[in-house]
Amino acid sequence: MHDAFGRDVTYLRLSVTDLCNCRCVYCMPACGVPRLRHEDVLTFEQMQEIVAAAASLGVRKVRLTGGEPLVRRGIVDLVRMVADVPGVEEVDMTTNATLLAPVAADLRAAGLTRLNVSLDTLDGARYRKITRTGTLEDALAGLAAAREAGFSGTKVNCVLLGGINQDELRPLAELARGSDLCVRFIELMPMGACAAWPRERFLPADAVLAAVPELVPADATAPGVAQLYRAPGWRGTVGLIRPMTHRFCGQCNRIRVTADGRLKPCLHSAQEVDLRGLSGEELVRAVARGIAEKPGRHHMDMGHASQTPRAMSQIGG
Ligand code: SAM
Ligand code: SF4
Repeated sequence: MHDAFGRDVTYLRLSVTDLCNCRCVYCMPACGVPRLRHEDVLTFEQMQEIVAAAASLGVRKVRLTGGEPLVRRGIVDLVRMVADVPGVEEVDMTTNATLLAPVAADLRAAGLTRLNVSLDTLDGARYRKITRTGTLEDALAGLAAAREAGFSGTKVNCVLLGGINQDELRPLAELARGSDLCVRFIELMPMGACAAWPRERFLPADAVLAAVPELVPADATAPGVAQLYRAPGWRGTVGLIRPMTHRFCGQCNRIRVTADGRLKPCLHSAQEVDLRGLSGEELVRAVARGIAEKPGRHHMDMGHASQTPRAMSQIGG
């Protein structure tokens, strides 16, 4: 289905839980965010019904996110249920990967297509500082398990943190040298925990091109929000995602649904469509309304924080 600006909405990001085993400094306060009441969290059946409604309107790709999707009990069953929905061609997951190693093979067998693994540093002590509770070895074990389970085209998401991981841009990019990984650097967005951070924390993605000057633009026609680059002789690619310095709203093809059943037409807007308690035609109409009401662009920049009152962990990225 096309929105009011002619964008074909084919991609749903579904947050399957607001809970997380980490507390990344830019995403969540140290004490976490108030948890949803158990009865307010969508059941797997409700999630499947929402995915089916979205698929009936043209959604073809679903990404499971969180919080941390792997803390949701039964997640392998949910992957299977979403993959079974007629019209859904791709089921992906964004994860911090610290809990991935034991379930990677099961997720793949259940129909998960691809993984995005968040990894902001290759230094153990720094990883602990950024995630507050996570262990780098666990995340790297998860990444290795994904490869062993047969996942290909895995993406590594690295948030650019001025003065925190700025000196690691080259080693992080080089993860794409000997493997087919796509290492994507994401500009930090001023929302929730980091909305009031000093300016120097917000590093433009051009810093990656300065750190790895041999990168040259790759396939400009590749779908997605990342601008892709390659270096001579590298197997993988490097992607730059620049919500702050290059607005990509014109290509936005996605909607989001939170773990408590609110459809968000735009990540950075406060606007939400309540899907709770709806089913059948009523649910399809509500999802269609969310698509139709997608704003043309967001209004976030260095002087203006995101307008969503939610923390990133309550949306899923
Ligand atoms: N827990 C999972 C993970 O970390 O991959 C999924 C949810 S997390 C909210 C999704 C993505 O959002 C992660 O890659 C994380 O680094 C990114 N993220 C969180 N807060 C952000 C911010 N303020 N700006 C840019 N990216 C952010
Ligand atoms: Fe959790 Fe992901 Fe947010 Fe880190 S970025 S606190 S892993 S939801």
